[in-house]
Amino acid sequence: MCETHARPLPPGIAPISADEARRLIRSDSGAALEALLDRASAVREAVHGREIALCGITNAKSGRCPEDCGFCSQSAHFPDAESPVYPLLSADEIVAQAKAAERAGAREFSIVTSGTRVASERELAVLEDAVRRLRAETAVEPCASLGLVREEDLARLKAAGLLHYHHNLETARSFFPNVCTTHSYDAQLETIRTARRLGMKLCTGGILGMGETPEQRVELAEELRGLGVDCVPLNFLNPRPGTPMADVKAITAGECLAAIAVFRLMMPGAHVFVMGGREVNLGERQDLIFRAGANGTMVGNYLTSAGRAPDETVAMAERQGLALRPPETGRPWAYGGEAPHEAGWNRRAVEAAPPRRLPVVR
Ligand code: SF4
Repeated sequence: MCETHARPLPPGIAPISADEARRLIRSDSGAALEALLDRASAVREAVHGREIALCGITNAKSGRCPEDCGFCSQSAHFPDAESPVYPLLSADEIVAQAKAAERAGAREFSIVTSGTRVASERELAVLEDAVRRLRAETAVEPCASLGLVREEDLARLKAAGLLHYHHNLETARSFFPNVCTTHSYDAQLETIRTARRLGMKLCTGGILGMGETPEQRVELAEELRGLGVDCVPLNFLNPRPGTPMADVKAITAGECLAAIAVFRLMMPGAHVFVMGGREVNLGERQDLIFRAGANGTMVGNYLTSAGRAPDETVAMAERQGLALRPPETGRPWAYGGEAPHEAGWNRRAVEAAPPRRLPVVR
């Protein structure tokens, strides 16, 4: 197994046990939550300093997915869910979106596609071209999220310059049957291990607030810790109309913050990113994600829902006295110190599509 790219821990900082995590994750209000946030913030600063990272994504291929992830409006199993539907974007469009994300302060840029895996040689060739051009024309660290990718496909993308692979476990193994029935937890683990075998940085997290218990959130964190992932993207369910999770009751902002803090304390060296759903679930308290121990978030729109304007995300970090961490690709970074107001580069992903009835494609 290749070694993790997570930060080394300074003396005096050690991961907390799962038992302690199960106790702390219940500290979701009042003085107990305040103490938990202070502890997580101190650990983040000791290990990662006062820099945070932003990442941008493109929804490079949307809709018509044969998988049945219950939170996802792109699944063909949920025909009443509205989501954009389009085939893989061209390399030109992917690169243009990455350049816009870079100007908004992104250090990583992820190409995200719907579907079980890369569908054809033609798609793979477009992705290879896009990754090559990202390395040649931008400073961003390229990442991709292409489902249960085949090892030979990922090896080609790595050779083209792909640095990170993203694949969420989504939730704890014990809750996964409530989320998805068309692929297994073990298939996901195998994908992640494949990326690690190839020496890629692993970006693996999940979605909180899908009906799992706080203890199951700790179970997910234990799984991620065992995998030695480098980045942990934490999403909070933003229920999409027409999906089986449309009516799941949101967890409180306090529960979200306690979970972020516990993931930070369980994996002090990992880069904990707070991603989709922070606006909906944390509302006015989203500034507290960094105090809860996060050291990254997303800039721009999400896959199928709108995010905050980039300048507001940068301002949120600056209000905490934090600075943006530049990429490590050795190229000059096009972020000029000021993020644009409009989150327009990946607007296509969030444009509502008319309700449609899609066949389940297999
Ligand atoms: S595999 Fe991805 S695109 Fe497909 S239903 Fe699941 S989350 Fe959505």
